[in-house]
Formats: sequence, C-alpha cells, structure tokens
Amino acid sequence: MLTIGCHLSSAKGYAAMAKEAEKINANTFQFFTRNPRGGKAKAIDLKDVEKFHSEADRLGIQKILAHAPYTLNACSPDEKVREFAYNTMADDLRRMEYTPGNCYNFHPGSHVKQGAEKGIELIAELLNQILKPEQSTTVLLETMAGKGSEIGRNFQELREILDRVELQDKMGVCLDTCHIYDGGYDIVNDLDGVLKEFDQVIGLSRLKAVHLNDSMYGLNSHKDRHAKIGEGKIGKEAMIRIVNHPALKDLPFYLETPNDLEGYGAEIAFLRSVRQES
Ligand code: FE
Ligand code: FE
Ligand code: ZN
Repeated sequence: MLTIGCHLSSAKGYAAMAKEAEKINANTFQFFTRNPRGGKAKAIDLKDVEKFHSEADRLGIQKILAHAPYTLNACSPDEKVREFAYNTMADDLRRMEYTPGNCYNFHPGSHVKQGAEKGIELIAELLNQILKPEQSTTVLLETMAGKGSEIGRNFQELREILDRVELQDKMGVCLDTCHIYDGGYDIVNDLDGVLKEFDQVIGLSRLKAVHLNDSMYGLNSHKDRHAKIGEGKIGKEAMIRIVNHPALKDLPFYLETPNDLEGYGAEIAFLRSVRQES
C-alpha cells in the first residue's frame, strides 16, 4: 500500500495531525518541530502524545517525518548561527523520542562564500556532536535545489557529509523531487538513470523518504518553487512513474505542494488511484 501524506501544521499537537490525516486518507504526515523560522518549541504534552499513539494505531499511521526549521544553518560562517542549529537540533531529537523510531529531516545548510568543502565539514562536525548511539530517530539530509550556496545540490555533496559522520546507522537521505529536478537530475526522461546514480553515489539503502512535489521551473533551474502534482514541469506521467518505481514505492511520500487540506486530499486520492499494487 502507498504510504502517503502531506505537510501538516503542528500548532494543535500530534493528535490533531492524526485527525487531519484521517480526513484526507493519508497514512503518514510531515510537520515542523517548531515555528519554521526557528524559535522555541512548545512543551511536549504527554496526554496529546498518548492520544496520538492510539490514533496512529487505529488509522495505520506510520513513519511520520519531522522537519527542522528551514532557517537553521549548520554550516553558517557565524558561530552563533551554528550554535543555534546545534541547540535546536539537539532539542528536536530529544523531543522526537516521545514518538520513537521516526525520521528527522533537515536542510544541510548554506556555506555562504566559505566554499562547499568547508560547509560539508561543518555540517558533519555538528552531526557528530548531536547524534547519540541510544537515539531511535534517523536524521535525514534533504536533497536541495542548489539555490544560492546551498549544500546538497547534488548527490556527491550528501555522500561527502555522510562519509564524515561517525554514527552511520543514524543517518539517511530524503529525496525531494522538485529539488533534484531543479538541481539537474532528469526524473522526467530518465528516472531509472537518476536512481541508478543515486544508488552508485549514496546507496539506495540510505533513502528513507520522498518529498513529492512538482516544480514550477524547469530542469537545472535551481529555483526551488514547488507546484501542485501534475501542474509543474515534472508533470503527471512522471509522478505516476515515481510512486510506482520499484526503488521508491515502499518509501513514505510526503506532499509539500501549495495546497490547503482539501487540495492535499485530492492529490492523495489521485496518487492512490494510479498506484499499481502487485
Ligand atoms: Fe525541506
Ligand atoms: Fe522538501
Ligand atoms: Zn523546496
């Protein structure tokens, strides 16, 4: 069965997100751990977490994905900004143990004129400080569109971060279809070739999640502007191939398309309808 959901607001807590997922026939979801621009997270409400777990059991919700604030920059040249990234990620990972065994996705960061190599070093250094052998959460590096000085603009850069991390089994990758298309990987005409390259450079065993988004701009545009499924340059046919591809079909898919809840529901219904179950 297709594991699919969308990005939901975490403002009302975990149980409320499970209820919203139910409304749109989603069996997973993504959420921000706190205000996407950073700031303090709400205290964990144990009653809410308990209610979430029973709702998740009832609805078959699995593999929820937490997303770090997108303003966080683990490889900033400014030590204070890196310290904020450290504090936020460490706190997020502590909080995630209330919903154990899930994934935590973050944007690797922007090197801001320090060069990619220095950026990669700083990101790995931070991960080596944060990851703990006892944690149950897998931390995911997101593939990026390569806007500005973003690290993760290609598979090689992610591989170089992963190579420097000591606790390898705590790490994985989240593939964003809009981002990699913007980054120059032609998933429209050569999905097999792109996934083969992913396998050779990073390894498909490290791929833990897919952000399923169409792209407003074309191949190699480095713009990072998401479009609704089938309404962008990637298009419906490629999306159908993606959710059915043997290397991807068992992964959880998360929509980050410009939609309200109803629009997400329609996309989920469409993607379920084109899924070929064997
Ligand atoms: Fe993201
Ligand atoms: Fe994404
Ligand atoms: Zn994006």
